[in-house]
Amino acid sequence: MTMTRGQFRVGIGYDAHRLVEGRDLILGGVSIPYDKGLLGYSDADVLIHAIIDAILGAIGKGEIGQHFPDSDPAYRGADSIILLREVLSLAHEEGFRLNNLDASIIAQKPKLTPYLGAMKERITSVVDEPCAVNIKATTTEGLGFCGREEGIGACAVVSLLGK
Ligand SMILES: [Zn+2]
Repeated sequence: MTMTRGQFRVGIGYDAHRLVEGRDLILGGVSIPYDKGLLGYSDADVLIHAIIDAILGAIGKGEIGQHFPDSDPAYRGADSIILLREVLSLAHEEGFRLNNLDASIIAQKPKLTPYLGAMKERITSVVDEPCAVNIKATTTEGLGFCGREEGIGACAVVSLLGK
């Protein structure tokens, strides 16, 4: 392990998935009642995927598809929270801990404000160390694929501190 003490890293992540009928909507590890869900090989938790990419970016380890390829049957229907836990331990192995995490979900529908607290709680429980977690939701005022309710996007920024 290289010396990371005192180092400060930042990472960014973005993801989007298509909204389809016949799938559960899982965001931030929380099941949201809605008549559509996100299409994807795993549980398609777009928020957790953006967070995972931000952490991988901060430690210089590529992106989610390289670590959890959709060609691998092990990740079919995978709980993305478990993948987040794996990426956090990778960050630890690399000598970093999560300092803060800020993320936005971009969705026209459903209304996500009532679920943001539960998402934050779920994510904080996985991080399991002092870390400021903030989860927001916004619409695009009807513009673009999110506005047309074709999909949901998410972006995340993290900062990591060397241990
Ligand atoms: Zn994804």
